[in-house]
Amino acid sequence: MKNILLLLTFSLILTFSTQAYVLNDLKQSSMNDLIAFQLNENDIKILKHMREEEKLARDVYDYFYIKYELPIFDNISNAEQVHMDRVLAVLTKNGIKDPASSEPGKFNNIELQQLYYDLIAQGDKSVVEALKVGATIEDVDIYDLMKFSKETKNPVILNIFKNLTCGSRNHMRAFIGILKTHDVTYTPKYITAKLFSKIIKGKHEKCGLKNGTRMGEKKGRGRGQGQGSGRGKGQGRGNRGNRF
Ligand code: ZN
Ligand code: ZN
Repeated sequence: MKNILLLLTFSLILTFSTQAYVLNDLKQSSMNDLIAFQLNENDIKILKHMREEEKLARDVYDYFYIKYELPIFDNISNAEQVHMDRVLAVLTKNGIKDPASSEPGKFNNIELQQLYYDLIAQGDKSVVEALKVGATIEDVDIYDLMKFSKETKNPVILNIFKNLTCGSRNHMRAFIGILKTHDVTYTPKYITAKLFSKIIKGKHEKCGLKNGTRMGEKKGRGRGQGQGSGRGKGQGRGNRGNRF
């Protein structure tokens, strides 16, 4: 009995110190130095989902940027690329194949594929509808990230999702701000009205993400050249500042 208790105590201490190590490690190192760690089946599922959901945001904003040439779509699309990279880094470190297609507008998750078609159809109508689509995407993102955060105890995933949610709140504020100049209000479809109003009243946040740069890749490189990101926005727009 004594031995069992001792063993239990020892394994408890080990669990806590490992978690503390992972958290410490996260604070100190960049995402490039992510260590491989145990992912359960649901962890993998939610990471795969978010990888494609961030791609949905990026592809929709790229599409609207080409159509309406509104800088907000380009800026936020670049931030979504960073979000995609963040999720991919965890999957890759754990030897999991990237679930996202390199083709813009193509998704392996059928629900996200359908959502993409619906949102493009809505935003095709007018620039105001496209801005509303932007708010809707951030609405879904915040909702899903919060929901998935309740489903995992993995500190690495929780930290990434926290940063992604923070970014989404900034994106939401940006879209709502421009909609306001068009005298349009947005009613949230996914998150609660209470949370929505709290976000809108809040100020722009620093989210612990490197703004404007993709991991291991300088912004502006590889667009439309098929160098990994599969984006087709054209080239030569250079390095612009990105506060998202
Ligand atoms: Zn995002
Ligand atoms: Zn976003």
